[in-house]
Amino acid sequence: MDVQGALQLLKAEPSLLPAAPGIVDGEDIERRRQSEAHTCLYCGQPATTALVAAIPEAGNRWLDLCWEHFALVRQYA
Ligand SMILES: [Zn+2]
Repeated sequence: MDVQGALQLLKAEPSLLPAAPGIVDGEDIERRRQSEAHTCLYCGQPATTALVAAIPEAGNRWLDLCWEHFALVRQYA
């Protein structure tokens, strides 16, 4: 699945993503980034960064990503 397709799937099924707090600041992202418990949504490598997706029906959701996929997702987000 390419990144664009995956994003569309996640918009349709936001419950696949872990819930993020309603208000997320840089510190929250930094904290999540530095915990090593997450893997990249796309490739399963250890995630090195995180984005928050604001999904209208589902609230904020975490997108844990490696650098490579972070760069790709930012092109579409
Ligand atoms: Zn990845």
